[in-house]
Amino acid sequence: MTRFCPKILKEESTPDHLINCQECGLYKQGTRMVWGEGNPEARIMIILDNPGARENREGESVICGTRQTLQEVANEAGLNIDDLYVTFILKRKPVHAYDKELVRQICMEHLEQQLKEKQPKLILCLGNVAVQSFFQNPEAEVKSLRGSWHKVQGFETTAAYHPLAIRRRPNLRALFLEDLTLVAERFHSLNL
Ligand code: SF4
Repeated sequence: MTRFCPKILKEESTPDHLINCQECGLYKQGTRMVWGEGNPEARIMIILDNPGARENREGESVICGTRQTLQEVANEAGLNIDDLYVTFILKRKPVHAYDKELVRQICMEHLEQQLKEKQPKLILCLGNVAVQSFFQNPEAEVKSLRGSWHKVQGFETTAAYHPLAIRRRPNLRALFLEDLTLVAERFHSLNL
């Protein structure tokens, strides 16, 4: 069997009028905007809490642990990486403490805009932080939402653990594979 090799997904450019967005104040932490990555026209949207680093200190592109685990398990579940678009609740990576509630609330407007434009068929939310923001419920948890579909903001949505949690607790990998298989089966049944 050929070994799957994760790839550096193409980054979708941030819209010109938002490259210097300062609405939430995170720009003061010095990280750049990452609007999303993968196929911008994909029908499956994956939502993470915030972007990880795409480049190392020397400015070379890297595949971080989150991307590696996500792609490996998605491939194992029968998903084609080109069917995925990945975006974030926050478009900048926070590196210091910040007002989480306020910043998430402000940046969600950008995600809502992306949803309106892209109209994904399926959404997979990864990790409790993304789930709580997207489901607009501070009590929402992956463990009670995973394994089934929910209508959220009008979109078919399911949830799974964050890939970093899978790396830290390898016993969760089987659940992650189950959750991505749920997405793959639903996606293939849509015959898009
Ligand atoms: S994280 Fe969101 S609100 Fe904050 S600067 Fe980036 S786009 Fe603007």
